[in-house]
Amino acid sequence: MGPLSSSGFYVSRAVALLLAALAAALLLALAVLAALYGRCARVQPSDLHHSGVPDAASSPRGTQEEQLPTWPPRPTREPAGTATPGHWRPPGPWDQLRLPPWLVPLHYELELWPRLRPNEFQSPTLSFTGRVNITVRCTAATARLLLHSLFLDCESAEVRGPLSSGARDGAVGRVPVDDVWFAFDMQYMVLELGATLQPGSRYELQLSFSGLVYRDLREGLFFSIYTDQGERRALLASQMEPTFARSVFPCFDEPALKATFNITIIHHPSYGALSNMPKLGQSEKRDVNGSVWTVTTFSTTPHMPTYLVALAICDYDHVSRTERGQEIRIWARKDAIANGNAAFALNITGPIFSFLEDLFNISYPLPKTDIIALPTFDNSAMENWGLLIFDESLLLMQPNDQVTDKKAVISFILSHEIGHQWFGNLVTMNWWNDIWLKEGFASYFEFGVINYFNPKFRRNEVFFSNILHHVLSEDHALVSRAVSLKVENFTETSEINELFDLFTYNKGASLARMLSSFLNENVFISALKSYLKTFSYSNAEQDDLWRHFQMVVDDQSKILLPAPVKSIMDRWTHQSGFPVITLNVSTGAMKQEPFYLGKVKNQTLLTHNDTWIVPILWIKNGITQSLVWLDKSSKIFPEMQVSDSDHDWVILNFNMTGYYRVNYDNVGWKKLKQQLEKDPKAIPVIHRLQMIDDAFSLSKNNYVEIETALDLTKYLAEEDEIIVWYAVLVNLVTKDLVFDVNNYDMYPLLKKYLLKRLISIWNMYSTVIRENVAALQDDYLALVALEKLFETACWLGLEDCLQLSRELFKHWTNHPGNEIPYPIKSVVLCYGVAFGSDEEWDFLLNMYSNKTKEEERIQLTYAMSCSKDPWILHRYLEYAVTAAPFTFNETNIMEVVAESEVGRYIVKDFLINNWQAVSERYGTQSLVNLMYIIGRTISTDLQITELQQFFGNMLEEHQKLTVRAKLQTIKNKNVENKKRNARMTAWLRKNT
Ligand SMILES: [Zn+2]
Repeated sequence: MGPLSSSGFYVSRAVALLLAALAAALLLALAVLAALYGRCARVQPSDLHHSGVPDAASSPRGTQEEQLPTWPPRPTREPAGTATPGHWRPPGPWDQLRLPPWLVPLHYELELWPRLRPNEFQSPTLSFTGRVNITVRCTAATARLLLHSLFLDCESAEVRGPLSSGARDGAVGRVPVDDVWFAFDMQYMVLELGATLQPGSRYELQLSFSGLVYRDLREGLFFSIYTDQGERRALLASQMEPTFARSVFPCFDEPALKATFNITIIHHPSYGALSNMPKLGQSEKRDVNGSVWTVTTFSTTPHMPTYLVALAICDYDHVSRTERGQEIRIWARKDAIANGNAAFALNITGPIFSFLEDLFNISYPLPKTDIIALPTFDNSAMENWGLLIFDESLLLMQPNDQVTDKKAVISFILSHEIGHQWFGNLVTMNWWNDIWLKEGFASYFEFGVINYFNPKFRRNEVFFSNILHHVLSEDHALVSRAVSLKVENFTETSEINELFDLFTYNKGASLARMLSSFLNENVFISALKSYLKTFSYSNAEQDDLWRHFQMVVDDQSKILLPAPVKSIMDRWTHQSGFPVITLNVSTGAMKQEPFYLGKVKNQTLLTHNDTWIVPILWIKNGITQSLVWLDKSSKIFPEMQVSDSDHDWVILNFNMTGYYRVNYDNVGWKKLKQQLEKDPKAIPVIHRLQMIDDAFSLSKNNYVEIETALDLTKYLAEEDEIIVWYAVLVNLVTKDLVFDVNNYDMYPLLKKYLLKRLISIWNMYSTVIRENVAALQDDYLALVALEKLFETACWLGLEDCLQLSRELFKHWTNHPGNEIPYPIKSVVLCYGVAFGSDEEWDFLLNMYSNKTKEEERIQLTYAMSCSKDPWILHRYLEYAVTAAPFTFNETNIMEVVAESEVGRYIVKDFLINNWQAVSERYGTQSLVNLMYIIGRTISTDLQITELQQFFGNMLEEHQKLTVRAKLQTIKNKNVENKKRNARMTAWLRKNT
């Protein structure tokens, strides 16, 4: 699936998740009913031969109804763990997460018929029917078949066979199906047979089924409604990964159970149909009402897992191009195609395919690629073989996307999904525990691809800002997630969904990058080529990958490793967290310890006794040194000692390719600080970034003093790299600090200290904004970092920043068609409202009502909370609860206002008089959230009690307890912050 968004790109996700949760609850209710009544409605009469060998000559026996009572036997007690009330069953293979290995699917003939008709899509669901014939090979004698099925009604079930390659169709026998039932909680369909299937023989399961397609559910089949050419239209698409294929057709829904697929889609003649493979033919079919439907068939897919099956039914246009003889088509709304919005994606797709084909020396095996842009697709993008599905915001360029990071985002995501054609589609992980084998590598290659097309692209810095920064700030020794999990740790299907997280994507990519850095690019790519070639159309696990790396390493003599690749890498993929490497530059002694959040003394000894084998690439006085390994808890490296000379300094983790943080003794940090003040440019940008990020993170978690981190900021007047500034500002001017700073003496000191240093980078970028804003579009790092710089400058009261905000806001209100440069739009809107009156506020409200894009609406709701007029904010809250004149559906306005500078006081007051209306509008959980927001600055028990009393009659009893515990945690954190802030204040006083 697509990479995770690195910013607030999908604020809409919360809303979507809520809707999905509601829909899931509805589905669950329906499914419980289905499980109670959803036995196979009509099992076909079946043949039975007493020997158990089906015989085509046998005469049909009685119907299913006559045979039903024999299975399942009803135990008197409900087995533990059975989630289907009222459905009793004995213990059996249906209690296991994994399918029993009795049958291997070889081929699916799949026909799907969703009843999507133009102009008839008002209801939240529509029905579909389907048929699937699955050819299987039996590997163990069994009279019972298990396959995955969820929310499907079975219309008929037959088993034919054994199949022999030479036999005429009519000569094939039937195996009687005595019963079909569902183990709903485990998502299985069970066929009880009247005869035993024989190992070594092939059979065909023939199943007819029906189900529902939900609007916007994005699991299995779903449909969406959108506007095109001025009218409302609908389309239907699929999302099978990871385990939703089973809700579209009964199947063996595990990634290692690969098969070929012949797909047929029946659709309304006014729509076109797309699937993994090229269209083979088209015919017509009449339904019972005499209406004509189009039957589109597709060529046979390669051997692939069920999660890659894809289809789309839509009335779209496309643009196309041929790359190395293969057609690439990009499909989108007709308006978007007519406006040329798909041109950028089309231009880069072919070259990305060719680049990866050459890199891996394996041709893309499908004859075509379709890429379709859905109006909304919460999975962001999906790599289905031959039919990639994207959210249109991640594929199409809009005219006002010029000064945004959109081109880079589209390039990243396209590279990621195309990378999956090898990592994932061609070679699939054996089981979901190893999805990092596809997600980690697809994420890693995003950077290689972009760098190839744009050699000036600053790969290390962008990798840091997009990938490494996020995961290093979440990962620690006690986090429950390692990159690769033990297979036996999975017990529930829902756990599979949770794996699509930061660790799989970002840590996976970081570990791939570390591997490529301590080998070299040649060895790295050679090993991957060998791995991909060996496991093409098949499956692999992590050990297979390590084995291929080992083979290539053994085959050369240049790179010597301190241990086998598996021993080195397993510790990184199987352990959570990462090490902190500390170098004493006076002695050359280096040690490693696990990174803990808020480390306390001796914690290491108590809870974590494993070490990592750590590759240390390093530089001394700006010169790259040869790789060394820290393969135990400590070791001495005499070559890393530095002299008293002013010019001597050492930095570990060259280019930040290692997945760890670096600490030094006091002398080591002092040397670096001196070097920064003397000649910062002697230290590469990536290491200026690294020092700031490592030092602040280590200080926050008690590895170094806060003063050590602050000392590194003194040189900043000389810093002209905006991404380094970004690292400083996100670490120093945190949300907590901004929210709380008015209570401290720190603000004026911080203002003086920072403004003095910030002015030169400010002048640089304010000039660009004023004179040539278009220049920003090729500066990806500036697009990422500018908002924080701008926001901080205005927050610190820099007059030029406030002035520029006013200018841009005024210009925009006079000419709303001229967009404010995107990277600073939120800040400009906020200050426009903060310095304006109700006139400006009303202007935004009016804009809000005219916007349809959720992202823009959310931006406006936040901006409206920036007002400093109590009455305007009060009115805003009233609008929110009375739903007049507008309904704010995207966000909880109470929470938005409570987060703002003046709003937090207003909300408290408003709640006293309106809590009934607030809880009716947003629910009582929202009151709990509000309490946390309002309670963000508490630092005494008395304040907790006061807040609790204040919220006393609004919360339910069980909420009061959790709230108290949470507030206690906030208080403790604040007490710590206070100490830290006091030290920062003292430091600032000394250094300002
Ligand atoms: Zn992916």
